[in-house]
Amino acid sequence: PDASALTRAESLITSIPDYPKPGIMFRDITPLLTDAAALRTVVEALVEPFEGRFDAVAGVEARGFLLAGAAAIVANVGLMPIRKAGKLPRPAASVEYDLEYGSATIEMHDDNAAGARVLLLDDVLATGGTLAAGRELLEAVGSEVIGIATLLEIDGLGGRQALGGDVHAVFRV
Ligand code: AMP
Repeated sequence: PDASALTRAESLITSIPDYPKPGIMFRDITPLLTDAAALRTVVEALVEPFEGRFDAVAGVEARGFLLAGAAAIVANVGLMPIRKAGKLPRPAASVEYDLEYGSATIEMHDDNAAGARVLLLDDVLATGGTLAAGRELLEAVGSEVIGIATLLEIDGLGGRQALGGDVHAVFRV
């Protein structure tokens, strides 16, 4: 995607101060998603550095799903949904991880997971806890995470360092 299309797409991400609680600057990608050209631009930019190196994309519920579904079609690969706990109908692998307050659990089925080369996506990278847990879960079902891509990386929270490896951010704030 060209630079002006990316700049325009970035301008559609809206920042909401003190949501969901005081001190947090919430980055809302909804306006970008509703714009056809911007949506295509960012989805292409997410997958571009990894082109030809993955068999599936994975996204973490819920906002990771929005990007992963689109990316799977653009890249012509499969989609591996990573769910919040308690929603899957068959036995599933699970990983528990720490949040700022308390903890969360994510789960997935192992269909087509063994040996798959997976690109893991999410909308926002903050501390990296969510994506690190997603990678751990994918590895638990036998997949290889060849890269991690996020639409927006929030600098200064240590997310990139926590993840290590091949992390691609389309935008950074
Ligand atoms: P973390 O696990 O700390 O990297 O947080 C990333 C997850 O929380 C992603 O799934 C994001 O959707 C969400 N998130 C964290 N911080 C923000 C923020 N400032 N604005 C929007 N979403 C956020």
